[in-house]
Amino acid sequence: MDIKVTRVAKTGTRPKDADLGFGTAFTDHMFVMDYSVDKGWHDPRIEPYADFSMSPAAMVLHYGQAIFEGLKAYKTPDNKIQLFRARDNFARMNRSAKGLCIPELDIDLVMGALKQLVKLEENWIPETLGTSLYIRPTIIATDPFLGVRSSFTFKFYIILCSVGAYYAEGFNPVKIWVAKDHVRAVRRGVGEFKTAANYAASLSAGEHAKKEGYAQVLWLDALEMKYIEEVGAMNIFFIIKGELVTPNLSGSILPGITRYSVIDLAKKWGMTVSERKISIDEIFTASEDGSLTEVFGSGTAAVISPVGEIRYGDRVINIGDGMPGKTSMKFYDALTGIQYGKEQDTENWIEVVE
Ligand SMILES: *Cc1c(COP(=O)(O)O)cnc(C)c1O
Repeated sequence: MDIKVTRVAKTGTRPKDADLGFGTAFTDHMFVMDYSVDKGWHDPRIEPYADFSMSPAAMVLHYGQAIFEGLKAYKTPDNKIQLFRARDNFARMNRSAKGLCIPELDIDLVMGALKQLVKLEENWIPETLGTSLYIRPTIIATDPFLGVRSSFTFKFYIILCSVGAYYAEGFNPVKIWVAKDHVRAVRRGVGEFKTAANYAASLSAGEHAKKEGYAQVLWLDALEMKYIEEVGAMNIFFIIKGELVTPNLSGSILPGITRYSVIDLAKKWGMTVSERKISIDEIFTASEDGSLTEVFGSGTAAVISPVGEIRYGDRVINIGDGMPGKTSMKFYDALTGIQYGKEQDTENWIEVVE
């Protein structure tokens, strides 16, 4: 399929690297493609970034049939553009599509489209370490219909934005708040898919956490409210007695690509890795007996995010004297080293955009 390209008359200017936030500095162009039952995915095009026009009855606005992805493109010191595990993001998008009754994408087609779009927007990729081009592929249901069923028409699009270093004040540990009265997702539901609904379900707990002075919510399993699942938009890791421990993918946890990458590196480094059920009580006990040495989150936005405090009801634990742990730093350095082309891509995770 040929991609039709319509360019903007005048390109915008990227904010200075130091002024970049997260999710506001959108680039000049976007990729768009439509789906209908007759034509399948069709009319792939790159066009100026602009508002969509759609019916107020569009099904996505009422019934939440929407999925998305999040990945990044990086500039290397020798000016190459690198994508990190992008095919894995589209493979996950196809799993989310299946879960939400959305037609799957041709991965080669969307990879080609993404590369063409990123190349066109090369000037929007910031260069300072920690900055990058954030990529947001999205699919929404567009039938103008009030009634619950799966839509017959969809729109797929990719938008891009220049994003700043996630850590304005450095690599500081975050404080997380364990939700006792809210759940994010339940097994056999949509928790393992990257769908808008999971975020809608998380907002109320997020506001509670913020009021208490916590940056993120740590979710427990919805059935027993006992086992740890994940944090906000990150998966979670613990180092207990030197072993790397993370919740197993139970069906209600988002299978993070950064999570897989951390596990792969840890195994390569000879660490013992255990994907298993971890109760919140186990974490408090391990903190009390001194065997819990580090906690960190993993996700595309921040890559690795050290956790310095966990609050569960009236109980609070502090991890590692307010400083990021040694192993958390090692994962951060290894992953960003590969992403920014400073370290050799021994795992074959990089795809260069030419
Ligand atoms: C996207 C996401 C993650 C992290 O996934 P990555 O592929 O590592 O970016 C974790 N949890 C949730 C709920 C997410 O939506």
